[in-house]
Amino acid sequence: MAVLPIVTGDDQTILRTQTEKVPKVTKEILKLLRDMEDTVVQAKGAGIAGPQVGRSLRLCIALINEKYTPLINPDIVWKSEEEDTMEEGCLSLPGIWLPVTRPVSITVHYLNAKGKKQERKLEGMEARIVQHEVDHLEGVLIVDYQTAPLA
Ligand code: ZN
Repeated sequence: MAVLPIVTGDDQTILRTQTEKVPKVTKEILKLLRDMEDTVVQAKGAGIAGPQVGRSLRLCIALINEKYTPLINPDIVWKSEEEDTMEEGCLSLPGIWLPVTRPVSITVHYLNAKGKKQERKLEGMEARIVQHEVDHLEGVLIVDYQTAPLA
């Protein structure tokens, strides 16, 4: 088990940089994903993305069906028009909770840990977690959303 240090602060370059696609699911990538899972479990997070552990790679882990699921090269290919707003936190922004408006449902394509293409339709909290993690892969953080604060 290896818990990795989590990069914190919205001015950190790595958190603001578009990640590179994973060219191949190698042993090193699988080891990184296992370490990321250990890290998110210890931090009691709902997900974690490569840049948060200092790796600018297009991969993340998201809690789906109560299981930490690795998503390699995830791509959100469809988003519902229906949106809702909920407060979100982020392991890279300790102590900050902000309302974020997002589509309620999405379809995401990704590779699983075996390198197999997957397609999943998600809604509610799971769709929100995956959108939050995919934002990290584009250098986007919750502080970038201009949702009006709840009065
Ligand atoms: Zn986050």
